[in-house]
Amino acid sequence: MSYRGRFAPSPTGHLHFGSLVAAVGSWLCARRAGGQWLLRVEDIDPPREMPGSAESILAALPAFGLVADAPALYQSSRMAAYDAAFEQLKARDLVFPCWCSRNDLAGGLHLDGHCRAAPSSDREPAWRLRVPDLAIHFDDALQGPQRQNLRNTAGDFVIRRVEGYYAYQLACVVDDAYQGVTEVVRGNDLLDSTPRQIYLQRCLGLPTPGYLHLPLALDDSGRKLSKSEQAHPVDPTHPMPALRRALGFLELPIASHAHAPVDLLEHALAHFDPTLLPHCSERVAA
Ligand code: GLU
Repeated sequence: MSYRGRFAPSPTGHLHFGSLVAAVGSWLCARRAGGQWLLRVEDIDPPREMPGSAESILAALPAFGLVADAPALYQSSRMAAYDAAFEQLKARDLVFPCWCSRNDLAGGLHLDGHCRAAPSSDREPAWRLRVPDLAIHFDDALQGPQRQNLRNTAGDFVIRRVEGYYAYQLACVVDDAYQGVTEVVRGNDLLDSTPRQIYLQRCLGLPTPGYLHLPLALDDSGRKLSKSEQAHPVDPTHPMPALRRALGFLELPIASHAHAPVDLLEHALAHFDPTLLPHCSERVAA
């Protein structure tokens, strides 16, 4: 199968430096492999979304020379697919309704395979996936071999929230499969979500793509630069400085003669080897 990569922003703010790094990294991997680069707007968490964010991110990417091979997929249009995946898990008794409050869980993981609280008819439950005592292994193309026991780290995790919204983990695996993604390139903050996603792929009979987790751009206090915390947006009307910084962050060569984003990207692409990307997250000036 030919390579298909993707960039999957959540519309919680404008494109910022950290998400530009993820977009550039996934674009370079896809182009280097002669493959396609797709977009997905992860708009299934309305309370966290910022009006106009999806449009702003999708308009900014081409200004940085990052042009996708197909129109963006909006997760808000995919509810029927998530319902179908959920019904499939339910039919196999892999999920259970859960009315547990934070207090019921007392800060620990949910490990019982069934709800500890009394079922309630006047409150909707969350739905959790029953997680076995199973170590998931995968080889990250940059971070190396990974191993995680789902019971010790995630427990019976929520795949449908009380409000009826599907969890990121479920929507992500359903759509990576639907879009035919062969390699997921994204920030290192999602490295420890990957075993949950691999387990869900197995439960749903979906293929497991390759994974490459990029280093994160951190703020002065060592936290991920994130859209929702109002990290500085990058300026699509003057794309060169932020694009140079993103390439520098990924330790890629920066063409001194470049006049346009595509020149910078083509130069970096000509020298690009994903195995030589830096592994470790770094602080950057916001
Ligand atoms: N939507 C997630 C974010 O913006 C990324 C999800 C992914 O790449 O799997 O952080």
